[in-house]
Amino acid sequence: FVAKRQGRPLGTYSASMREEVSQRHQMQQDLAEAIKLAQLTMAYQPIWDNRSGRVAKLEALVRWYHPHWGQVSPADFIPLAEEAGLIQGLGALVLWQSCRDLARLQQSGFPDLQMSINRSTLEFQTIDPEANEWLRVIRHFGLDPADIIIEITESLLMESSDQHRVRIDALREAGCKLAIDDFGTGYSALNYLRTFPVDLVKIDRSFVRHIPFNEQDRLLLDGIINIVHNLGMQVVIEGVETREQLNFLCQKGCAFTQGYLLSRPLPYDDLVEYLTLNRQGMNLANLTTVS
Ligand code: C2E
Ligand code: MG
Ligand code: MG
Ligand code: MG
Repeated sequence: FVAKRQGRPLGTYSASMREEVSQRHQMQQDLAEAIKLAQLTMAYQPIWDNRSGRVAKLEALVRWYHPHWGQVSPADFIPLAEEAGLIQGLGALVLWQSCRDLARLQQSGFPDLQMSINRSTLEFQTIDPEANEWLRVIRHFGLDPADIIIEITESLLMESSDQHRVRIDALREAGCKLAIDDFGTGYSALNYLRTFPVDLVKIDRSFVRHIPFNEQDRLLLDGIINIVHNLGMQVVIEGVETREQLNFLCQKGCAFTQGYLLSRPLPYDDLVEYLTLNRQGMNLANLTTVS
């Protein structure tokens, strides 16, 4: 109706598009409100050390329960937050809760756990060059920065601006570990490993999906694991859902796995229960493949 009155052809901005835009706008407002009221929560997914059979690290994954839409996926609301300039506030809330919970865990019988925290590339554009904004939070909870892993994506490496590099160097100088997330989904990924100081490489779950049945995929994954290990970096395989996949990875000497087979992301209380149950190491016989 509006379009017609302004003399533009109908259909360039249809009612459904208008609805979608206003829905998006509403979602952004709701997200802004939820961040302000600290209503976002965290789930933690165990990362398993294949050699010791124990949980070595946790990945912090943000959760948003919308009063009307229910659980919204971070794959949907993280881009929304980036678009709406909300990612800094969201990231600060995530860092605060993750550090608080890691400190609680370390003090209640799990002193060796590390926490892996996702950071959006945009966040590196706004924190101070010394990354004190983040280091202060880490230290506020009495944590050793060496127990914090910062997960970045290949997009950050692709931009490879000095601005990002300065902040990453500051974090690493303080002791923080650096991980590349979703490795292998971007462009010429291997090249970055030569030039970037990374401690951990998280292989995207698309590489493990057809393991062990597809020979091509088996060779590829084996090769990537070898390259990363030879460069002196640790490997985490994401999205491990079956016993067969885990067996393959153990055979290949891959130390760390993460996936629904071992555990879904868990709210804090469930995590404590899980960690307590598996304190002596995971009982592999209890694992059931995700269907
Ligand atoms: P990601 O960092 O690659 O996190 C792993 C995602 O894979 C999580 O999805 C996790 O639940 C899922 N996953 C783990 N194991 C399995 C498995 O065996 N099978 C399958 N199919 N999926 C598995 P989630 O929690 O929905 O998060 C999606 C993405 O949203 C994350 O991918 C990350 O990019 C982003 N994200 C989540 N939390 C945060 C955050 O606090 N800050 C930022 N900047 N991004 C976040
Ligand atoms: Mg991640
Ligand atoms: Mg990932
Ligand atoms: Mg990701």
